[in-house]
This record gives sequence, C-alpha cells and structure tokens, in this order.
Amino acid sequence: MISVEEARERILKEIVPLTHESVGLTEALGRVLYQPVASGSDHPPWNTSAMDGYAVRLDDTIGASEKHPVRLPVVAEIPAGTMPQKPLEMGEAARIMTGAPMPVGADAVVKIEETRRRDGEVDLFCPGDPQFVRKKGEAIEKGATLLVQGTLLRPPEIALLAAVGRFYVSVYRRPAVSILSTGDELVEIDQPRGPQHIFNSNGHGLAAQVRAAGGRPINLGITRDRPQELRDRLREALFADYLLISGGVSMGDYDFVRETLVELGAEMKFWKVAMKPGAPLAFGTLLGRPVFGLPGNPVSSMVTFEQFVRPVLLKALGRRDLFRPMVRATLAQEIEKPRGKRHFMRAVATLKNGRYEVRVLANQDSHVLLSLVQSNAFLIVPEECDRLKGGEEVWVQLLEGP
Ligand code: AMP
Ligand code: MG
Repeated sequence: MISVEEARERILKEIVPLTHESVGLTEALGRVLYQPVASGSDHPPWNTSAMDGYAVRLDDTIGASEKHPVRLPVVAEIPAGTMPQKPLEMGEAARIMTGAPMPVGADAVVKIEETRRRDGEVDLFCPGDPQFVRKKGEAIEKGATLLVQGTLLRPPEIALLAAVGRFYVSVYRRPAVSILSTGDELVEIDQPRGPQHIFNSNGHGLAAQVRAAGGRPINLGITRDRPQELRDRLREALFADYLLISGGVSMGDYDFVRETLVELGAEMKFWKVAMKPGAPLAFGTLLGRPVFGLPGNPVSSMVTFEQFVRPVLLKALGRRDLFRPMVRATLAQEIEKPRGKRHFMRAVATLKNGRYEVRVLANQDSHVLLSLVQSNAFLIVPEECDRLKGGEEVWVQLLEGP
C-alpha cells in the first residue's frame, strides 16, 4: 500500500498535457491558452474622451473659474459611435460624450458639471483637463502580448480578447474519458429494476465529475462481472484519452478488473492506496492510456476521483493549480480513527470571524452518498493520527469557494 502523495506522484508522472484545438470565444471560458495572444489593434483605437463634457484646447481655457468663466462657441456634437468631421480650431469647443473620439487639435476635456450651455456657446467654469483624454493604445498597445501561454481564461480574459476583436483562440484540447461501471448487481436508471439490482450511480457521478473538471465523459454503461466481457469493453474503451473503471478492483471472487488489466498487458503502477475511503484504487497504463480502477462504493469512487483523477484532467488541460485549496481550521468535535490510513472525512467547513471551523458529518460509511451531498470539505486526518480533540487545529480541503 502506498501513500496518497506517492500515488499522486506516480499518476501525474504519466500525464502529459494534450494537444490543442481552436475554439470560439463563446466556448472558451475555463480553458487554458495553448498559444500566447498578441493584440492586433490599439485600444482605444483613437484618443477618446473619458467624460461627458466639452472637448477644448487647454490653452484656451487657462484661468477659467466660476467667477470668470471662459465662453467658447460650440462648433460640433460628437456622440460615441461617430467620428469628428473637422479639427477643433483655436477658440472653439465641441460637445463630446464618453467614449467618443477627440477631434484633432483638442487636448483636454471640461466635464459637463463644470459648464453652462447658452445656445450656441458654452461657459466653462474650470480649465480643460488633459487627464480626461484617454490616449490611443493606452489600454492595449497594438502588437503587445496580451495573454501568455498557459493563461486560464476567466471572464476578464474573455472580455479582453473580445476587446481586441479576437474570436478564435488556441486552447488545450479537452480530454475524452471512458467510464465503465462493473457489477452484476447494476442496472441503468432508465431500466426496470429487479429485486437483486441497484442503480448504476457511479457512471453518472463520474461523468458529472469529468465534466465539472473540464473533460468530455463517455459513459460506456455497465459491464458484467465476466472476464471476457470486461476484456472486450476495455478494448473498446481505449479510443479515449483516459479510462475509468468503477468497481471490481478489490479482492472479491467476482472482482476481475486486476487480472483482466494485467492480461491485456497493462503496466500497473499500484493497486492500493493508504486512504479511507478509497483504499482499493488501481492505476496503470494500457497501450499508453492511463487507466484508473476506482473503488465501487459510491463515496469511494467520488473521493478517489476528486483526489487523483481531477488533477490529471486539469494537468491535461494545461492548468497549473491541480489541487483543491487546503486551509487550517478548528475542529468542532473529538474524532477517533485507527492508525495506518489517511482519512478524508466528509465535513462542513464554516467561516466564523475570519477563521474556519470544521464539523465532521455523522455517517462516514463509504456507501452513504447523502453525507457527501451535505459536505463542502474534507477533514484530512493523517495516517499516524488516531485521535483529534475538539478545538484542535486541523487541515481541511475545501471542495468549493467559501
Ligand atoms: P465492488 O468494488 O465492485 O466490490 O463494489 C463495492 C460496492 O459498491 C458494492 O456494494 C457495489 O454494489 C457498489 N457499487 C459498485 N459499482 C457501483 C455503481 N456503478 N453504482 C453504485 N454502486 C456501485
Ligand atoms: Mg463489483
């Protein structure tokens, strides 16, 4: 049995980022840039007014005040979305709106609050301010590298790409993940259920986890506990980038995943990890494809995905932060466990006065999905620890933002 760290290391060593694809900006959220993006244009494309007011020549307005306003003829109206028709000559003002291009010759703006309009003229109560002019290329310079390779595309990056008119971007390809659920006791949720059956929940749970991590799940349904069928289905599943098999990896008489993988020539890297839930976890490569044998118990299947498969998908997608955030928290109750394995206990972490408090949920059995539903964090109890006291400082892995 190897440690969680050792298992992570052996797995991630086998994972290389995938190739790339071109996607439209509307599909690019959450993807990672495969190539840097340079700007094809200046932004703003011309000198533009930052205020609603009057475009002026600074020299014409020096000394203007409420007591001694400067009066200028208004020679043009420039709303956003129009281009000024002629230059602003000495001794002239132009009404201008936020975002509209400055007329040639104008170098300052008096904001509307500091003016009074009288027919074809305007009184200015203060000098024009050059700071109210946004210079061409000030926000984005043409040719400048905007986003480097490896950038995660969040909403601000999407907006920036749109601002420079970039529609297609090159991003890491989404990994395709085959999902096989093994077990003679399983039926699909849209099939009639006999008294001997339970519904295949892992297939759906894993597919949702793959999708949530940015992968493309290919749910291949249920495989019976027969070596021949398992062999055939495994071969079929190999077209994907990664394979997930749930169930059949422990020591039962009908657990055929191990021997079948070995028979097909898989290079197995480990069979068991010192953790709970999730100890019977196998990993290897089959014809160069990373393969996970995930435990069948529904909570174990999801917890091992979270700890080992999600980082794989994120790495393949070019992401740099592969792991969920870990925080220190105060434990709300006493906890006991046997020594030997690292426990990932379903828990609720709450922020109280800027500090996390963590409470472990009552039923930690590995078939109880409801406590996974109720949790937002895992309390991490180290291998060699057998007791934690209430009020102690502990490590917690957060599964969602606070
Ligand atoms: P196994 O690892 O195949 O021995 O399965 C361990 C436990 O998980 C058994 O109680 C199975 O019935 C259950 N189990 C296995 N696969 C699934 C699945 N796809 N959906 C729900 N429960 C499952
Ligand atoms: Mg089984």
